[in-house]
Amino acid sequence: MITKLNSYALQEDVVEKMKLKIEETRQKKIELGFGLCSMKFVNILKPGIECSGDECSIIRVPGCPTGTYVGGYHTHPEGPAEPSIADLKTAYVNDVECVGSAKEDTIRCFVRIGQRKKQDEKTIISKLKEVAESLPKTIRKEQYDIWKNARDEILTKYFQAVDVK
Ligand SMILES: [Zn+2]
Repeated sequence: MITKLNSYALQEDVVEKMKLKIEETRQKKIELGFGLCSMKFVNILKPGIECSGDECSIIRVPGCPTGTYVGGYHTHPEGPAEPSIADLKTAYVNDVECVGSAKEDTIRCFVRIGQRKKQDEKTIISKLKEVAESLPKTIRKEQYDIWKNARDEILTKYFQAVDVK
């Protein structure tokens, strides 16, 4: 089965690789991922350079041996397949970001709707600065609600969420 991510096509082999990364994340208990590279003309996504641990969230390695880097995939060792605001910022700047949850065994992709606009990008970045990001389970309910509201506002306004099976 092919998952459509806007104009991109995510084929089964890449989905399998995403699932393997979830397995590996469970064993190693660290974040893992890889870049998503779009092949010219056909818009099929292929896996790019892999990352592990902090480099997945801090330094995004936009490496593509072939094709054009259009985003990435990374796992959440503890959390659900929901994006952080930082994940959405990355997804916005590129075209897509996929998240795999080792806890729930689910994969979701977040695809930017429409063209990238400087102004919208600034809005997302300022939200990110305004709402300090920490792991939802380590913060109080009201802080979590503030974070979640800000996140959901960005998510519904600029993104399409796609479940990957
Ligand atoms: Zn994330």
